[in-house]
Amino acid sequence: MSWFKRVEKGIITPTEEKKETPDGLWYKCPSCKAVTNTTEHRKHLYTCPQCNYHDRIDSAEYFEVLFDENKFVELDPNLTSADPLEFVDSQPYPNRIAITQKKTHLKDAVRSAHGKMNGLDLVVSCMDFKFIGGSMGSVVGEKIARAIDYARQHKIPFLMISKSGGARMMEAGFSLMQMAKTSAKLALLAEAKVPYISLLTDPTTGGVTASYAMLGDFNISEPGALIGFAGPRVIKETIGKDLPKGFQSAEFVLDHGFLDFIVDRKDLKQQLTDLLSMLQPEEKPELAETETVGKKAKKVK
Ligand SMILES: [Zn+2]
Repeated sequence: MSWFKRVEKGIITPTEEKKETPDGLWYKCPSCKAVTNTTEHRKHLYTCPQCNYHDRIDSAEYFEVLFDENKFVELDPNLTSADPLEFVDSQPYPNRIAITQKKTHLKDAVRSAHGKMNGLDLVVSCMDFKFIGGSMGSVVGEKIARAIDYARQHKIPFLMISKSGGARMMEAGFSLMQMAKTSAKLALLAEAKVPYISLLTDPTTGGVTASYAMLGDFNISEPGALIGFAGPRVIKETIGKDLPKGFQSAEFVLDHGFLDFIVDRKDLKQQLTDLLSMLQPEEKPELAETETVGKKAKKVK
């Protein structure tokens, strides 16, 4: 016996009146296939509550993770790319830029900002993979160079969050020049004794790995991130040997001495704060003296 009986026959609901689950309510982990609701996933800073898979996130999310109350001032927000080579592949380069800008609401593949992280000043440049594969063209290089300059002039630690497929082919040689430019700026930063931390996220490859991403006073990464220079197929063909298991994963790269540590995204803000606090110059002695004076003054009374 059924609970409900359909009395009327031939009821048809038009498509527009059918109720549907809104998109983006659930997140399915690509690694363990567990399903979480998106609010929960977001609360875990876009890591899987089951297997801790770190989903790729963009500069907006990293700024939210790091800056206190998501307050920051963006540096050079309006730099956009020119077309020095008049490059055309399946479409002219300026078209590709315009379409990508419209789609992503970004100006190029990196954003820089300064703000406070647990009360400490910090300059961050963070790459956006969804902008032409996080490729490094002249705008990316220039924005990073300017952020480093800002950090050096204001003596504020610099954090680079890399996520890139490498150089931007549409700018060819101009892209490659960014490797030298950013590396030279980082050398000046080191000379000024301002700390530089490089966070390599999934994926960090090509010219980015071969320049600023590997030049940190600390090179750190998120779990499971792909880190390499050339892709595995190219390497395999070149050396004519099979590659070891887990090749180019953050854990493999750590084991082989290229990383200082791997940090869970949920601990990122606190670990960076601890690290930068350790790197801060010693507290000024005047403070201690004032206290002693105060105590003495009390004793006199
Ligand atoms: Zn998972």
